[in-house]
Amino acid sequence: RAKAQGKGRCQVFDTTMHTFAVNLLGLETDLRRALERGELELYYQPLVNLASGEIESFEALMRWRHPERGLVPPTEFIPVAEDTGLIVPIGRWALQEACRQISAWQAQFPQRRPKVSVNVSAVQFAQPDLAEAVLQSLATARLEARYLKLEITESVLMDGSDAVRAMLERLQGEQIEFLMDDFGTGYSSLSYLHRFPLDILKIDASFVRRMDVEARHDEIVQAIVALARSLNMTVVAEGLETVTTLARLRELNVAFGQGFLFSRPLDAESAGRLLASGRRWNGARGSHE
Ligand code: C2E
Ligand code: MG
Ligand code: MG
Repeated sequence: RAKAQGKGRCQVFDTTMHTFAVNLLGLETDLRRALERGELELYYQPLVNLASGEIESFEALMRWRHPERGLVPPTEFIPVAEDTGLIVPIGRWALQEACRQISAWQAQFPQRRPKVSVNVSAVQFAQPDLAEAVLQSLATARLEARYLKLEITESVLMDGSDAVRAMLERLQGEQIEFLMDDFGTGYSSLSYLHRFPLDILKIDASFVRRMDVEARHDEIVQAIVALARSLNMTVVAEGLETVTTLARLRELNVAFGQGFLFSRPLDAESAGRLLASGRRWNGARGSHE
């Protein structure tokens, strides 16, 4: 009886595994096709200078305009793309597209000169030809390197290899700035910050979002701001949703903020309209002036 049950369980397990594999395979095939068919899009969310209220840059965030499922968020396909290696061609496309778009906006709005940051995952960073891909994207778009920034997470630095260091130095040597994304959620080993001097630190949204209701979160944000200052890093607060938080971040002299309070990520056309409007967020209310 036990044997029969065991066998049954085993079958259930097999079926689950099979379904999982088939789904993964289906998603991989769909995703590969999505890239070929031009179903991937970049959305743009402004990073706002908290002192002047002006847009400093945009973060490029990927979306998949799926013919049946509608707009699919990156959390539903980037992990699969990373597991299957598809992130390499997809990430390359994102670099090209972000450079093309920001270059077009620079020509259209020469007095604003927005910058763009692109997320790069650890798998991409391990590709020896990443630097060539980045420089190629800039050249094709006729964009100066200082207008492009790359967002990496601690997982990239955890590798700690000479290859990672060389890649970082190569790109920094080209005047490309690096942002440490989601700071505080990974291993947050201070040694990474010392060994790999990055330019900008993004405080993870999980701390920022609750700092107006939880004193501990406010304290963590204060500590990260102090740490960044001592390392000469610029601070960006992610997940800025309320006016109370905005006022507090200004009090702490945080340089930049990004979040729904200012704007959700926008499709390229809407982001272009936002730039055209010359909108500025002033005062503690975070409202239009
Ligand atoms: P991330 O790089 O940390 O991007 C910030 C995420 O926070 C975005 O989610 C953004 O929409 C969301 N967000 C911004 N402000 C607020 C706010 O005030 N409240 C809340 N609740 N959320 C806010 P999104 O667009 O779903 O992207 C999720 C993640 O997917 C990104 O996190 C990034 O890790 C990854 N990703 C997106 N695009 C790319 C890409 O082109 N390449 C790679 N490798 N990863 C990407
Ligand atoms: Mg990011
Ligand atoms: Mg982040």
